This record gives sequence, structure tokens and C-alpha cells, in this order.
Amino acid sequence: MIDQYAGISPKGDLVLLHKLGEKLYNKSFLHINSTRAGGGVAEILHRMIPIIKELSINARWEVIEGDERFFEITKKIHNSLQGNVENMTEDMWEYHYEVNKRNAEKLDLEADAILIHDPQPIPLIEFKKSGKWIWRCHIDLSNPIEEVWNHILPYTQKYEAAIFSVGKFARAAGIDEFIIPPSIDPISEKNRELTDEEIKETLHKFQIPIDRPMILQVSRFDRFKDPIGVIKAYRMVKKYNDCILVLAGSPATDDPEGEIVLKEVQDYASNDPDIHILLLPPFSDKDINALQRSATVVLQKSLKEGFGLTVSEAMWKGKPVIGGAAGGIPLQIIHGVTGFLVHSVEGAAFRIRQFLNDPHMAKQMGEKGKEYVRNNFLITRQIRDYLSVWYAMEN
Ligand code: UDP
Repeated sequence: MIDQYAGISPKGDLVLLHKLGEKLYNKSFLHINSTRAGGGVAEILHRMIPIIKELSINARWEVIEGDERFFEITKKIHNSLQGNVENMTEDMWEYHYEVNKRNAEKLDLEADAILIHDPQPIPLIEFKKSGKWIWRCHIDLSNPIEEVWNHILPYTQKYEAAIFSVGKFARAAGIDEFIIPPSIDPISEKNRELTDEEIKETLHKFQIPIDRPMILQVSRFDRFKDPIGVIKAYRMVKKYNDCILVLAGSPATDDPEGEIVLKEVQDYASNDPDIHILLLPPFSDKDINALQRSATVVLQKSLKEGFGLTVSEAMWKGKPVIGGAAGGIPLQIIHGVTGFLVHSVEGAAFRIRQFLNDPHMAKQMGEKGKEYVRNNFLITRQIRDYLSVWYAMEN
């Protein structure tokens, strides 16, 4: 499997992976999160565990179990750590701990290194048996509700280190801190090379015309992704450049707000035949891949963002990207080099036109973007970083 990354991932990363594999030979590496499916954390773990195993490290992935009440509580914790006011009571904190205690009784927590993902399983540290315990925080802790952070902090302080995705998401807890950004897998269904036939199949399925340039945004129907802003920018462009807009997202059955936002977007598009709003079923990786590969310009006009994996996904396909200057997007888009960062609808419209009118520049930036992702945001780099942190802690 690792051999498949030869010629794709930087050679140095692969060498380091093998060397770290030798150093950590036969040691055990346990990952624990709260869901096996859905969300970026699960997606990356699915891809990562087999690669780590191939390095002769005993990688394991466990998932904590909880009932509806538990996940309602952890959602509140998640939201308030990202700055939204939620009503948390002492009972809820006790339940958060209790459910983790029950999980600790069932799970085999014995390992040389244990990576605990996000706040849902953070209390497991209380049941530590052996090994190095690291808290892997994927969310933005830059501006939490203090009271909620004060409940999480004592758990955090018991870990040996914390890992954050983006520097500005981090928060001091008096332990070692590391920044390890997320990554994409270049050989997954979402990112692998596609044949022209495979691309055509997707375009045909969704009846997307290919006679004009395509502007694309792939994202959940969420106001923070600013789909209405994307339509506004597209309309400004459309006065001068004939093009089509594709907005692709999944129906968010478990998220009532998703449906409302989708309806808002559909109303705003008001049957414009050149705006294609696609509702993709879950696991549409190949279709997303094909759409990204067909786009002329890719937008991720987020107003608030985590990391924004869709940006790296598009850059990996050599596309010129325009992103909102939010969350992890500025980490990926170096303004004017690997794409453009924008702060407004007007800015987005201006940059779309610039790309449409100058295909040479678009191509060059796309190529630079791809190399930037190759060097910084591929899964092999992320595994390299995890193993390096662990190795440094062992020695
Ligand atoms: N995605 C998907 N189907 C959709 C919309 C998005 O599979 O309908 C994928 C997208 O390709 C990316 C991930 O979901 O891999 C979204 O990650 P990102 O960090 O961009 O945003 P998030 O949804 O986590 O806020």
C-alpha cells in the first residue's frame, strides 16, 4: 500500500515513514474517537490505520459508545468550545464522565501511544493504564466559552501533549503542543486520477453542460459556507463572462438547518437554468472527484471554516481556487501564488473573472497549488507527523 504513494508523495516523507516504522517496530498505537462513519476524522482514520499497520506498528482504532443524551451533551460541548453559548449543567458533565467510564471498562486501553480525538472521549485519560496519551483536537479552541473550557482543561492537563490542526485554533494547557494539519489521500476514490469516461459519466448523470466554463463549490448546505454569496458572485461575473455554476452538497437529513439552507439557496437561484444545485447522496466520492476535475474555477467562499479539505482536494486536481480567508483556508491558499483569498462577494467575482480571462495564470496557479498540497497536505505527511511526535515523546 505504501508503495502506491511512491511518485506521488514526497520521497522524504516515505523514507521517514519507513525509518519511523523501524524505530516504533511492533509498538502499539491506539486511536479513539466517537464515530466510525461520517465526518473528516473517521474518513482519515479509515485511510490511515492500514498504512500505519503496514509499517509494522500495531495500529488500532476504537470508537466510544454513547446514547442520544451523551451525544446531545457532547454536541453542546463541541459548540461551546467553538464559542457558542450552550446551557451546560453539572449533571451533563457527570454524564459525560460516566459514559466514558463505562467505555473505559469495555475498551482495551493498553497501548504504547494513545491518540484521543476531540472532546467526546477526553475523560478516558482518567482511566489511563500505560503509554503516552495525546489529545488530538480537531476543533477551533481560539475563543471558547470559558466555563466549558474550564471543565475540559483539567482533563487536557493530564495528557502529555495536545495536537491542533491550525496554529490559531490552539489553546495553552501547560502541556506540549503540536500543530498537525489534516490531509487528503491522493489515492482515495475522492482524489485518484479519473479517466475521461469516468468524468463524462458523472457530468452526464447530472446533466451538466460542458460548452461553457464551470464555477464549482462543493460543500454542505451551511450558511458559513456562504452558498448565497457564491450565487451573488456568479451573477456579477455572468454579466461579462458566460459560465455555469455548480453547487454540490449532500442532503443533511440529520441536520434540519441543512434543509432550510438548501431551500434558501434553491429560492435564491430561482430556476436559473445555468445554476445546478446537486444533492449528492453520501459516499459520492467519485462524483465529487469528477466535478472537481471538470471545474474551471473552484470556490470555497467560507465565512467560517475548520480546515476546509475541499480546498486541498481541488488544488490537488490542479484547479485554480478562490477561498474565503477563514479557518485553515489561508494555510492552503497563498494569496496570488496557489490561489486567491477573498473577503467579499465583489472580491470573489473579481477573482473569478481574473481566472476566466487568463487561463494561463489559472493553469500556473493550479499547478503551484498541486505542488503545495503534495508537499504539505497529503496523508503520508500527516502520518509522518503523528509518528514523529510519538517517537520524540518516547525518547
Ligand atoms: N463532501 C462530500 N459530499 C458533499 C459535500 C462535501 O463528500 O456533498 C466532502 C468534501 O469533499 C470534503 C468534506 O466532505 O472531503 C468536507 O470537508 P471540509 O473540511 O471542506 O468541510 P466540513 O464539511 O468538514 O466543514
